[in-house]
Amino acid sequence: MDEPTLFTKIIRGDIPSSMVAEGNEWYAFLDINPHRPGHTLVVPKEQAQRISELSVDSRRALMDGIIEVQRRLSIEFETTDFSVNLNDGPLAGQEVPHVHFHVIPRAPEGTQRPLWKPPGDSTEPDFSLLAELAERLQAH
Ligand code: AMP
Repeated sequence: MDEPTLFTKIIRGDIPSSMVAEGNEWYAFLDINPHRPGHTLVVPKEQAQRISELSVDSRRALMDGIIEVQRRLSIEFETTDFSVNLNDGPLAGQEVPHVHFHVIPRAPEGTQRPLWKPPGDSTEPDFSLLAELAERLQAH
C-alpha cells in the first residue's frame, strides 16, 4: 500500500476538512486557499495520482460528485456557471499527488461575496468562515 496522501488522510478524517458532500466513491471539501468563494475540491476515495490510474467505477462516480457539488454551490452562490479544473500530474501543476477536481462557482465580476484571498495573499485561511459555508452547503 502506498503512503496515504494528504487527501486520503482528509477522507479518513485524520486531518480536518470543511466537508461539502460525500458519496460512496468520492469526497468533496472546501479548498483552504480558495481562488473564489465556494472553491471546492472533489476527490476519489480511491487513491491515485492521475485520472488514467483510477478504476472505471471510481472515475465515473467522480463526475457524479462534481455535479452534486455544483448543485449545492449553485443554490448558495446563485449561479449555473463554474470553472472545473484538473491538474493531472506534477507537470500540469498538480501539488497534491491524489486526483482532485477544482469546482469554482463563477458569478458576474463585482458580485462575489467575500471569503477568498487574492493571488499572492499568504495570510492564514479563515477556518471559521470555511466551516460556516460548509455547514450551509451540506444543508442544500
Ligand atoms: P493542485 O495545485 O491542483 O494540486 O491543488 C491543490 C489544492 O489543494 C490547492 O488549491 C490547495 O489550496 C489545496 N489544499 C492543500 N491542502 C489542503 C487542505 N488541507 N485542505 C483543503 N485544501 C487543501
